Amino acid sequence: MSVRVVARIRPLLDKELDKDTIVRAESGGDGKTMNIVRIPNPKNEAEEFSFSFNGVYDMDTTQEELFTNEVAPHLKSLFQGLDVTIFAYGVTGTGKTHTMRGGLKLAERGVIPRLLSGIYRRGKKITKDSGGETEVTVTLSYYEIYNDKVYDLFEPPDKRSLAGLPLREKDGKTVVVGLSERACDDLKDFERLYIEANNNRSTAGTKLNAQSSRSHAILMVKVIQTNGDETLISTASAIDLAGSEDNRRTENNKERLVESASINKSLFVLSSCIDAIGRGDKRIPYRESKMTRILSLGQNNGITIMILNLAPLRSYHLDTLSSLNVSSRAKRIEVREIENEVVFTQPPRKTASITGTSIQRQPLR
Ligand code: ADP
Ligand code: MG
Repeated sequence: MSVRVVARIRPLLDKELDKDTIVRAESGGDGKTMNIVRIPNPKNEAEEFSFSFNGVYDMDTTQEELFTNEVAPHLKSLFQGLDVTIFAYGVTGTGKTHTMRGGLKLAERGVIPRLLSGIYRRGKKITKDSGGETEVTVTLSYYEIYNDKVYDLFEPPDKRSLAGLPLREKDGKTVVVGLSERACDDLKDFERLYIEANNNRSTAGTKLNAQSSRSHAILMVKVIQTNGDETLISTASAIDLAGSEDNRRTENNKERLVESASINKSLFVLSSCIDAIGRGDKRIPYRESKMTRILSLGQNNGITIMILNLAPLRSYHLDTLSSLNVSSRAKRIEVREIENEVVFTQPPRKTASITGTSIQRQPLR
């Protein structure tokens, strides 16, 4: 199993243009590829933390660039039978849904519609190259995990049991009992199903008093290739995780605490699994939460890509730091004293200063 952890810094929104930015991307080695994120120490602004990733995507990265660099290269492996799992991890408001789902305009489409589009294109090519002998079928399942319960997003909310769907072990794999699987023949089909299910998500949220930022949404795309009696099945999973912010800091009613506990636990288990896979451990603690169990993270031969979404704003400082800590494989690579160096980068339209430190401003790239 291979794992890649990359960070994506979102641009400032129109209403944020006058705000301080504290997160910046840097190239660690060859001067070309960005792979370092720098952020000041909130307790001592003269000091700065650096985190290394397999890749860092700056504010100006387009949806297409991210997909082309991080997801498209794995389509081939998917069709060779490997499972591909893509997570978006980060604080609410940092761009997880934008990265995974994206906007309706072609250029704004996120990882998920691009993934489907890539799958159909490749599937057609495989059928054609085999002279029509290999048939490729695609099915979708889509569910959310809220408070450690599984809800089918293809089921209308009024048909759903609040207890959620049970899990069962079958042939060494965890399956969600009763989860629906819809045939999905082309991109049009996909868009219709996906929009319908996402509407179910928000409606279900109201019923359960959940906001989408407090549940994990998991899309599973099954690719079935048949050639005579031979069948090869592989799955691409795309996951928009619950917000990783420390809810205990801001919310304190009982319901929120229950949510927080289960969000924090599943995200913690996820990061432990990623750590363990990254280290090449034999034992991956995927059994410790429902989400990681269903994904059999570490159990299968597959490729995992974790995208850490970051907002560059100072108002996210503590949460950003904690999500950096989690996803950079809990490894702080260095703490650096700064003297007369860039301590943070400004958007070009803004000037600011930090008392006692001299600042140079330079564009991010
Ligand atoms: P999350 O799902 O992590 O809570 P969203 O995806 O909803 O965050 O993003 C928060 C806001 O930022 C949205 O208005 C979204 O359109 C915008 N946004 C996020 N990432 C980008 C980006 N790369 N480019 C432009 N706008 C973005
Ligand atoms: Mg979201």
